[in-house]
Amino acid sequence: MSFKALPAGATIGILGGGQLGRMIAMAAAQLGYKCHIFAPEAESVAAEVSAHFTSAAWDDAEAMRAFTASCDVVTYEFENVPVHALDPIPDHKLAPGPRALEVAQDRLSEKRFIAELGGTPAPFCGIDRAAEIGEAIAQIGKPGILKTRRDGYDGKGQWKVDDAVPDDVSVPASGLVYEGFVDFECEFSVILVRARNGEVRFWDSTHNTHEGGILAHSVLPAPAIIGQQVEAARALAKQAADALGYIGVLTLEFFATKDGPVFNEMAPRVHNSGHWSIEGAVTSQFENHVRAIVGQPLGDTSSVAGTIVMDNLIGEVALDVKAHLSDPKAHLHLYGKAEAREGRKMGHITRVG
Ligand code: AMP
Repeated sequence: MSFKALPAGATIGILGGGQLGRMIAMAAAQLGYKCHIFAPEAESVAAEVSAHFTSAAWDDAEAMRAFTASCDVVTYEFENVPVHALDPIPDHKLAPGPRALEVAQDRLSEKRFIAELGGTPAPFCGIDRAAEIGEAIAQIGKPGILKTRRDGYDGKGQWKVDDAVPDDVSVPASGLVYEGFVDFECEFSVILVRARNGEVRFWDSTHNTHEGGILAHSVLPAPAIIGQQVEAARALAKQAADALGYIGVLTLEFFATKDGPVFNEMAPRVHNSGHWSIEGAVTSQFENHVRAIVGQPLGDTSSVAGTIVMDNLIGEVALDVKAHLSDPKAHLHLYGKAEAREGRKMGHITRVG
């Protein structure tokens, strides 16, 4: 069905109520759209900047139906929404579609999907029962990492295996995946936006560094090895987006290795490693996600400077707000979260130029 571009004043539904939804809603507001957040939590930092908020369980079909009826298009900022929860949303209203969610919320499916497209994930093996762990490790070798197939993020649900299997490993009903430890030079992501007409644009790939499995910094310019591997990584990301008939912003994370880019994981959404694009690109990932899903033309993804640094504010950081606001190159973003728990993303700072 052809999609008629939504005019300003239309309502965008967002599944998930975190900072990504908050930044999508702020970009949507700039273009005159209203947002309606659906999230299971009672409070939401995305709802704070949106016109409407439904706080209900994912499987509350009645609430999902009423939410859908109030929206002109529905998107998501969180990939672990149970796929069956989307049943009340008609296909033409959901962007990106449910297939992207299905593939990306299961580490085994996404690795198989990428391998089928000709990409290179780390060597991997699925595990359904504890008794299969030894066999998987024997097949792939050590060192490696056991990861929960579902619901893992920011390094959660992961166990490094150097020698013996850690005592606290448990196999959830949805299983584990064991993957070989990748000897990488550095990490980068490909962030693209795909419009309803199939047009694809990419942002520059930053050098991403993690601390404790959580993204800490994204930096441009990236080391030369990323520049040498980004074309192959982009070709794979575009293939993935085309195969999914994807609409909106899609992120694929890679390890740059001496043998070329190794796929780590994909996120069917805007991504922390693209936050720099708010001030560092002509059009941010958030604005282009909105443009794509409402069927309007995409904006220019070019960077506005050669040097851009994004630092995440994680947990209880001692934040000198005055100093950051006095720095002419710094853009401070605070997500409005009341409680600074360990590992929680509280905000970020982007310095341009
Ligand atoms: P993930 O949640 O899978 O993105 O993992 C978080 C971080 O852990 C990654 O960004 C890497 O820094 C590291 N990591 C994950 N998987 C591997 C791997 N197979 N080999 C080496 N490092 C990894």
